[in-house]
Amino acid sequence: MNQISYVGRFAPTPSGFLHFGSLVAALASWLDARAVGGRWLLRMEDIDPPREAPGAQAAILHTLESYGLEWDGEVVYQSLRHAAYAEVTERLFRQGLAYACTCSRKQLEGYNGIYPGLCRNCCHAQEDAAIRLRVPELTYRFEDRVQGAFEQHLGREVGDFVIRRRDGLYAYQLAVVLDDAWQGVTDIVRGADLLDNTPRQLYLQELLGLSQPRYLHVPLIIQPDGHKLGKSYRSAPLPTEQATPLILRALRALGQATDAGMALGTPAEVLAHAALHWNPDAIPRRLTVPEADLL
Ligand code: GLU
Ligand code: ZN
Repeated sequence: MNQISYVGRFAPTPSGFLHFGSLVAALASWLDARAVGGRWLLRMEDIDPPREAPGAQAAILHTLESYGLEWDGEVVYQSLRHAAYAEVTERLFRQGLAYACTCSRKQLEGYNGIYPGLCRNCCHAQEDAAIRLRVPELTYRFEDRVQGAFEQHLGREVGDFVIRRRDGLYAYQLAVVLDDAWQGVTDIVRGADLLDNTPRQLYLQELLGLSQPRYLHVPLIIQPDGHKLGKSYRSAPLPTEQATPLILRALRALGQATDAGMALGTPAEVLAHAALHWNPDAIPRRLTVPEADLL
């Protein structure tokens, strides 16, 4: 009996189109799953309609398909999961683990994004208030498969954080933890921009009695001018007609060996070959991509 228990996922936010950095993350996640015969799920993180770019959802699915990054099963949409988020938020609130916060943006100026706890001991009603999760004065640690040991003191470095916004929308931290658990995800492979979100997610998992997945944060793509390749700054959408050369660039960014013959392959062939030779130990912790390798 050789039961494969690996479940990976890719969880794009449709606030923009996929760019080279998203390809590196998606590819690493896909290869890490496929190399062990695991499942790979796709979840559309469409919890923030005001920030959604028109056409982005369809474009993301189309790009993944044209790059040969096939997913298993149906796409999960976070916009259809509100009942689950609401149920947990309500429970945390009832248990006093979360509380309503009515602070204005102005009141929170000057605290470097670390909530100073102004509403911690008030008892505001939930209406027209954000809901914040009380964090413990503890350090949360985990061992990332690429970035190594990472730790963060939740009280000092993060503060009580929002799980439901004042406008009623649920926060990424809550949705990601509930959905990864609900979908049975065992391995999270994503960009290192989310490394310092992970301790908040570990705390939520602990609080809700959910098991902790393994984490692998791929390096951010730093441009030669020092800017991170992000959704807004010079991050061209991936062209669908150049999938093979871009997959090869992404493989090199991940420290994987490529050979000349691969350039002639279809995306599916290149991916299959890369999965056979997948070596997560070769992934660099930090990365600067030469100008020529950017779009
Ligand atoms: N939706 C998040 C993003 O696009 C990724 C969430 C995750 O992988 O945990 O940045
Ligand atoms: Zn407050």
